[in-house]
Amino acid sequence: MAKRKKPVIGISADSNQGREHDLVDYKGDTVLWLKKSYTDAVEKSGATPVILPIVKAKGTIDAYLSLIDGIILSGGHFDIDPKLFGEKPLPQCGPLKPDRTLMEIALFKKARKMGMPILGICGGMQAINVGLGGTLFQHIPAQVPNALKHEQKPKPTKPSHNVILAKGSILKRIAGKDTLKVNSTHHQSVKDLGRGLTACARAKDGVIEALEPVDDKDSFIVGVQWHPEQLFDSDPFSRKLFKRFVASCGKYLDSDK
Ligand code: MN
Repeated sequence: MAKRKKPVIGISADSNQGREHDLVDYKGDTVLWLKKSYTDAVEKSGATPVILPIVKAKGTIDAYLSLIDGIILSGGHFDIDPKLFGEKPLPQCGPLKPDRTLMEIALFKKARKMGMPILGICGGMQAINVGLGGTLFQHIPAQVPNALKHEQKPKPTKPSHNVILAKGSILKRIAGKDTLKVNSTHHQSVKDLGRGLTACARAKDGVIEALEPVDDKDSFIVGVQWHPEQLFDSDPFSRKLFKRFVASCGKYLDSDK
């Protein structure tokens, strides 16, 4: 088999669970889907995107990991099941997709052990946190006093609030500055950080907007609460973030792990 020259990046798919969509032809069917901005950002950054369907079998997750050189845990129309961090759902809790979340957590844990680069975006960052024993605010407006508006309407194609980057963080090194303007389309956020994680960006209201492991400095593991893929064409930092991620995936590929 010809060795691949470009890194292949697996992006976790979202699903509608057969309920929340208006695609007449698919009504009642469970459909896997993903905003094209994810695959476009990966391709424009010099890697090959593939979408990873939601599966249960450990063997299939292992097979995914043998086919890819990096992972994007994507966002989507779902909330992480509060059961996974020991809470009952608040009334504002959105659709839960436990099969998806469990697969993403399994994928993340195994990929991390392998040293594979991982980028968690929005719900993907929250999955990383919960996978490492962290907790979430289930609904920011009800649980964070004086919170900014984190649910940007109608579309997060432009930045809406600032984040302050932590000293020494990978994001600050990539950005080369202290503050970034980001988009925001989330009603949940990280409450208690998972084991070994540190907040590397916060909004002015204290909401954690990005995380990375305290250690593991050799590998690329970053979670961002915002959507760099939606800002890719307009925002130089978003392009730099994807470029750096893809470069790490390229190194992983070359390392023959
Ligand atoms: Mn936000």
